[in-house]
Amino acid sequence: MQIETMVVHAGERRVEGAVVTPIFQSATYVHDEAKGYHDLRYLRLNNTPSQVVLHEKLAALEGAVSALVTASGMAAITTTLFALLKAGDHIIAQNVLYGGTYDFVTKDLPQLGITYDLVDASDVASWEAKRKPNTKVVYVETIANPLLAVPDLPAVVKFAREHRLVSVIDNTFASPVLYQPVAQGFDLSLHSCTKYMNGHSDLVAGAVIGGRDLVERVKHKLDHLGGSLDPHACFLLQRGMKTLALRVRAQSTNAMAVAKCLTGHAAVERVYYPGLATHASHAAAVRALTGGFGGMVSFDLRGGRDAANRFVKRLKLPIDAPSLGGVDSLVSIPAQSSHANLSPEARARAGIGDGLVRLSVGIEGTDDLVADVLQALG
Ligand SMILES: *Cc1c(COP(=O)(O)O)cnc(C)c1O
Repeated sequence: MQIETMVVHAGERRVEGAVVTPIFQSATYVHDEAKGYHDLRYLRLNNTPSQVVLHEKLAALEGAVSALVTASGMAAITTTLFALLKAGDHIIAQNVLYGGTYDFVTKDLPQLGITYDLVDASDVASWEAKRKPNTKVVYVETIANPLLAVPDLPAVVKFAREHRLVSVIDNTFASPVLYQPVAQGFDLSLHSCTKYMNGHSDLVAGAVIGGRDLVERVKHKLDHLGGSLDPHACFLLQRGMKTLALRVRAQSTNAMAVAKCLTGHAAVERVYYPGLATHASHAAAVRALTGGFGGMVSFDLRGGRDAANRFVKRLKLPIDAPSLGGVDSLVSIPAQSSHANLSPEARARAGIGDGLVRLSVGIEGTDDLVADVLQALG
């Protein structure tokens, strides 16, 4: 089925004829000849109807067998890495990662005896030099924040398969509309459902999607660590997901229009959008992504920090707030928000200038957004 159909119908339970799956607001369920601890139905064990409906919908969207919903994107990421790695193991991870993930890999994992190497995801040929006998996992992001680099994804899958490593990808920025990692050979696809999946900036949630055995392993770890999603958030996420395909297509269309209006503007030094032929990852994005290039656009303003601050203040539609992927356009200045804790030198090495602005493009009218961006640049 088409993704537009699956977001509406997959997993839904029409209880008592209700068109909308109700909120199952119950922590525990009637004892069913208990087969074992993991068969008792209890919210923390991630097996109650509000959660299971989402598991089925999430798995369907990415052509996978199993899925798990979690209390946040970070719960999905940390629980997955805890499930896959133990003391003495090694992970190869992309050198540009979501901030929380970067800190977890480079600070928390080493405290537990798990070592890492960071690699350039556009040059998978360079990874072999970093591989060790105890390497267990490779970890990348489909579209990385904030310069929107897309790895050589087929090469990542090939490398992992050749060396029998578990391949994990954070697919948050692409969403299943643009990329289906498991169908493309990744072992596990992770999401911050806080972003595009829910799409309304009104909850935090996460997801783990993949094959039965690996997802089961992550589920057992999640049962113990306790990062489970509550029924009301499940309901909101399920409702938000029904419009996922429509939203992401509208956001991709809007983002392309904004990226084009920024290109060549006198106040703009450089535009980062994977859909532009000038983007370093354009070829990788064209090869991997389907139906658009996503709703995130970043750009360098010529006037540096002051120009970036002035631009953000003058915008009338995008709201100055962290996070992304919702129906409302949001704007942020990475050097003063998501990447403020890096030293200026580290930011420069990562290509994040003081005049860099990141837009999470929403579903507002294309002409209104373009007009607002142009007036703020003026
Ligand atoms: C926001 C985000 C996360 C963390 O998700 P939370 O829901 O805030 O825990 C992880 N990865 C990416 C790419 C994100 O954008």
